[in-house]
Amino acid sequence: MTDRIMHFLRNRREDGPCLVVDLDVVRENFGAFAQALPDTRVFYAVKANPAPEVLDLLAKLGSCFDTASVVEIEQVLATGASPDRISFGNTIKKERDIARAFALGIRLFAVDSEAEVEKIARAAPGSKVFCRILCDGDGAEWPLSRKFGCVPEMAAQVLEQAHRLGLVAHGLSFHVGSQQRNPRMWDGALASASAIFRDLAERGLTLQMVNLGGGFPTKYLKDVPAVKAYGQAIFESLRKHFGNRIPETIIEPGRGMVGNAGVIEAEVVLISKKSAADAMRWVYLDIGKFNGLAETMDEMIRYPIRTAFDGDEAEPCVIAGPSCDSVDVLYEKEPYPLPLSLEIGSKVLIEGTGAYTTTYSAVGFNGFPPLKSYVI
Ligand SMILES: *Cc1c(COP(=O)(O)O)cnc(C)c1O
Repeated sequence: MTDRIMHFLRNRREDGPCLVVDLDVVRENFGAFAQALPDTRVFYAVKANPAPEVLDLLAKLGSCFDTASVVEIEQVLATGASPDRISFGNTIKKERDIARAFALGIRLFAVDSEAEVEKIARAAPGSKVFCRILCDGDGAEWPLSRKFGCVPEMAAQVLEQAHRLGLVAHGLSFHVGSQQRNPRMWDGALASASAIFRDLAERGLTLQMVNLGGGFPTKYLKDVPAVKAYGQAIFESLRKHFGNRIPETIIEPGRGMVGNAGVIEAEVVLISKKSAADAMRWVYLDIGKFNGLAETMDEMIRYPIRTAFDGDEAEPCVIAGPSCDSVDVLYEKEPYPLPLSLEIGSKVLIEGTGAYTTTYSAVGFNGFPPLKSYVI
């Protein structure tokens, strides 16, 4: 929570939950990344929060952008950033979208299969490609599983294929899992990456770049290491595995760039119990899984929730959203302590919600509007 957000909310008159993002915090986060990883270019992961004000600020600060669709590419271009500052980082693209991106000037693409390389060779000839390798996501609170990437042996083949088809085999990428609380988790992926670099060099192909992905955490309830600790751990691993031939590196922070810049104000709609004998309160908010808090899925992300009654006696309760879908329960497996003095109609502040909230919000499910957002 910042004074600017507090001031904004005090003067807000409209109804309904809203997210407020403080650009000063985004600016500080960008500076912290630049300082912690001074030789690494930042490609902000647009999906975390594509608000035009956020993209404009980052473009002005010199950031590059990781995008996953033609619409995201257009959102970045609208800031005036040139296409050489944009990567098309999704490994799963329609060929006609690759062609549209190419027409817009995009020349850097992610792949993780030979079939995708073939599409890029046809639709974006001569472009640079980097191949994503699988990462197990251990230690991450929001692991990315096996959807993206291929095993290291396949990555070498994919890049050789790219080279054969006239593309530039530029490098490798990985993602250690989102909300990665262990700075050492980049080490295993960098060991694999360096082995692929050596293997391909022996076959006459010199890679240039390692894309270190996202994963940098936001502080929710538990403490997380500072970005400086990530910079140090990553630099040590680069030294260990690449010696004095450290490749060009980029990072793609999403959550770590905007998560702590946002606060959601929501309202208590109902406090009730399931039976007279049951001590457990159910607290229903006007925000839930479908209008902003999708990352409470499996209770993976546990947001700090502030109320005007903090400090009063608190007891665990179940917190649920407003929709008529029974999966719209935020915290039940591990009930969440809220003050007993909390009342129907009270406002609550949900912190650390600058990333993956507006973009995960459904359009009108049950008639609830998508999460409103203000960037100040
Ligand atoms: C979502 C995504 C990111 C951002 O991840 P965070 O954990 O939010 O930093 C980075 N790179 C790629 C390819 C992504 O899909």
